[in-house]
Amino acid sequence: MKKLQNIKTNLARLSILVFLIVILWGCGRVPHLTDVAPPSSRLPFVKVLLDEVSRKHTIGGSDGGEMAINCFKNGKRISYYSRKPVIVQAENQKLGLYTHSGQNLDYKIDRMVIASRTKNHGLTYDKKAYHGLLEFVSSSGQIRLVNIVYVEDYLKGVVPLEIGPTPEEQVEAVKAQSVAARTYAMAHLGQYGDESGYDLKADISDQVYGGIKIENQLVNEAVEATRGMVAVYNDQMISAYYHSTCGGTTDDIEDVWDKEAAPYLVSGHDDEACKISKYYTWRERFTADQIILRVEQYLAQERGREVNAGRLTDIRINGRTPGGRVASITFETTNGRFTFNKEKVRWVIKRSDNPKAILRSANFDLDIERHGNGEVREVVFRGRGYGHGIGMCQMGARGLAAKGIKFDSILATYYKNTDLKKLY
Ligand SMILES: [Zn+2]
Repeated sequence: MKKLQNIKTNLARLSILVFLIVILWGCGRVPHLTDVAPPSSRLPFVKVLLDEVSRKHTIGGSDGGEMAINCFKNGKRISYYSRKPVIVQAENQKLGLYTHSGQNLDYKIDRMVIASRTKNHGLTYDKKAYHGLLEFVSSSGQIRLVNIVYVEDYLKGVVPLEIGPTPEEQVEAVKAQSVAARTYAMAHLGQYGDESGYDLKADISDQVYGGIKIENQLVNEAVEATRGMVAVYNDQMISAYYHSTCGGTTDDIEDVWDKEAAPYLVSGHDDEACKISKYYTWRERFTADQIILRVEQYLAQERGREVNAGRLTDIRINGRTPGGRVASITFETTNGRFTFNKEKVRWVIKRSDNPKAILRSANFDLDIERHGNGEVREVVFRGRGYGHGIGMCQMGARGLAAKGIKFDSILATYYKNTDLKKLY
């Protein structure tokens, strides 16, 4: 027993020692994150994939700040300091470092970590400015550029793109959006595995991240006011889905997508709070030929061969979700019946004037005009809302905020039975 106790004590001592070594080693190896932010704000950070590096890139300190460029090769670190921009180039799976005028400084570099040495300054990558560190790392035949950044700074470069320009009196909606975006980021840390070297992509696969350039004062205030807060259900971070405009009712996730039911992603109404959206209701007119073409194109892609759908004789809505969205639709033609379920109809029909964009929502009624022989001539979709209808309705959040509703109540409206938790 005593021996076991000793082992435990020794293990505890060893782990403290290892921890200290890691900290010291970390400080020596790369400039610590506290070099670019006050020590009081030591927060969790995320690693965001900015780019796959294939050519020359210019790195600089934002607003003329000084950079530390730490190059790792053959297990050694060499540091360069510069107030002028430098050029980093991919060269046979390794990196080359050049001055702005093209003079070679170093080559065959395995990894580079660049930090600002000037307080409160960021870094620029091809003129786009970012907080935190920039890391070039060679992994599985590719060179990746990763931005290692505090979660809160990351959110300031994400939320403006998600919520769009918002008047000051709707700041509570921006706070709700900040919590949703933070919850997404924190729940997806490590999703791509350790070898990838990053947690999140900077595009729509995760959350679109625009860095410092897109920041605005209102979002910065909303992020800071909700610092560390995430939405939880049963103490687990939720899948904080959101969309532009629900059109009055949100929906059960399993009725819209082929995903598992979630007790907090269930149908509810928001008292027409999203009526301020220009897409609260909409109309879209299609000719029968257009609809047939869209069905044929969709099926051709799905089946990998050409499909002749014939001529459109009828469209039937077979069922609706609890929130009123079309759960199943059948296009009857001279060549058969083509049925699509759940949200698929949006991807089949797309937009009348833009086949690259999907139909605004699956919440619609149909007005069918016919030829003398009974075949369909034109169809008008009379729709409500914009987006999938799962989780938070962003325009509804803004409408509620305009009525004086606070962000925690806004979140509780759209994510049922959830609580807020402060992670840090
Ligand atoms: Zn709504």
